[in-house]
Amino acid sequence: MTSEYDLVVVGGGPAGATAATAVALRGHRVLLLERDTFPRYQIGESLLPATVHGLCRLLGVADEVARAGFTPKRGGTMRWGRDPEPWRFSFSMTPRLPEPTATAFQVERSRFDEILLRNAERVGVEVREGSPVRRVLSVGGRVRGVEYTDRDGTARTAQGRYVIDASGNTSRIHSQVGGARVYSEFFRNLAVFGYYAGGRRLPEPDSGNIFCAAFDAGWLWYIPLRDDLTSVGAVIAPEHLAAVQRDPRGAWQDMIKACPEVDRLLTDVPLATEPPYDRIRVRKDYSYGKTSLWVPGMALAGDSACFVDPVLSSGVHLATYGALLAARAVNSALDGSVPEERGFAEFEARYRREYGVFHEFLIAFYDMERGEDSYFWSAKKVTRVDLDEAAAFAELAGGLVSGDASVLAAERGAAAAELDEAVGRLADGTERGNPLLSTRIVADTFRTGNDLEEQALYGGPLDAPAAAGSLTVAADGLSWLRP
Ligand code: FAD
Repeated sequence: MTSEYDLVVVGGGPAGATAATAVALRGHRVLLLERDTFPRYQIGESLLPATVHGLCRLLGVADEVARAGFTPKRGGTMRWGRDPEPWRFSFSMTPRLPEPTATAFQVERSRFDEILLRNAERVGVEVREGSPVRRVLSVGGRVRGVEYTDRDGTARTAQGRYVIDASGNTSRIHSQVGGARVYSEFFRNLAVFGYYAGGRRLPEPDSGNIFCAAFDAGWLWYIPLRDDLTSVGAVIAPEHLAAVQRDPRGAWQDMIKACPEVDRLLTDVPLATEPPYDRIRVRKDYSYGKTSLWVPGMALAGDSACFVDPVLSSGVHLATYGALLAARAVNSALDGSVPEERGFAEFEARYRREYGVFHEFLIAFYDMERGEDSYFWSAKKVTRVDLDEAAAFAELAGGLVSGDASVLAAERGAAAAELDEAVGRLADGTERGNPLLSTRIVADTFRTGNDLEEQALYGGPLDAPAAAGSLTVAADGLSWLRP
């Protein structure tokens, strides 16, 4: 049996749900094929404000996520680098995240991912679970659809004008685009992780922070998921692989014992016994990219395309933002506003820039001979944002560096409210002078004007999200505008 869609999405994780929703919101016909049946387990539990307040708002799911009871995360606490004492960062260190948007969540991914997938269904995506994709179908050098097995074990084909592969790190079809993965020379670590049925919390206001603590063999993450559930993972050098494979649970517990800051939080706390948290899991070879992210008819998003070391919790952000960029290219090509090659080139340029910023920064971050200030300085150097060092670090750690309105939706909302209020004060004459001049929107407009003028004079780079000549984004965030 054959069916035809505007878009076929492979994989129903955050990348797949985002791409599918963003294209269905424009009224297109979208099929999403997911191998498993949700809820399903996934690692990657610490989110960024860009996802929670930006992408989730754009997908129409932010309120549901906010109501789900996930642990609020205000930032991170790090026993990292040469300082023996833990230091911390909070998302509120950047002025672009005013309260209450300077927060994210620590989530059980089974629940978070299901919220995103059901939302995709609600906006009209046809979701088929228990439907693994086997291969990609191409005609005349263009991808035209996929072959999959349905719930009954019957082989089927689905034809699509576009295919987005969002089937994660285990993707069987990513090599259709750009050949084999290119593994990072620098990030060769492996991760072994499991769960405790509770655990002490950091003192307020940091009780919901991710805690990352370096020790001799690598570093540990400590993520408070619920009062009675803590995710604890060790990221260690590849030479420990044999020991981990021999006895994953023993190796994991040895790593925790080797790190007094984390061990102390877990004294006398039992291991989790509820599925799926009753297992110790191992992941390796997870830092990679691709030489190309699209071919005619098909694009990659999320872990299918790339991932880099988890210490800054950037995975779900890169997955959802990359998926949105791909969806914009699809929407623009479908409505004929931007030629396919132009739209996908924009997708790839922006996605690579976002990935590249994390990759470059993380190389500096793994230098353990440095201190907090030096890491903040590196963030400023890599991001080139027009803010102080600490704020630059918070921008990076919050997923805001692109400056894309889709990750800054909350800021746009807050700034718009401020403008409304200023207009009100102007209208009722309660303020002398012009209150509009002190609002962020007006200040930003002047700054952009100054930047453009400066660029025209000196040809200098802009801090704007994409290079000169790049496409701009439609007001709803879902497509590129006609150049
Ligand atoms: P996935 O979430 O993997 O979803 C892919 C989906 O595709 C799955 O549901 C799968 O069942 C489906 N699928 C697979 N094959 C097929 C097929 N053939 N047909 C149909 N469907 C298929 N990220 C963070 O943001 N925060 C963190 O704290 C964090 N910690 C991490 C720790 C470690 C050790 C690692 C390795 C990663 C971590 N990540 C973290 C990264 C995060 O796990 C991923 O970046 C994120 O899950 C990517 O989402 P995705 O939608 O691309 O893929």
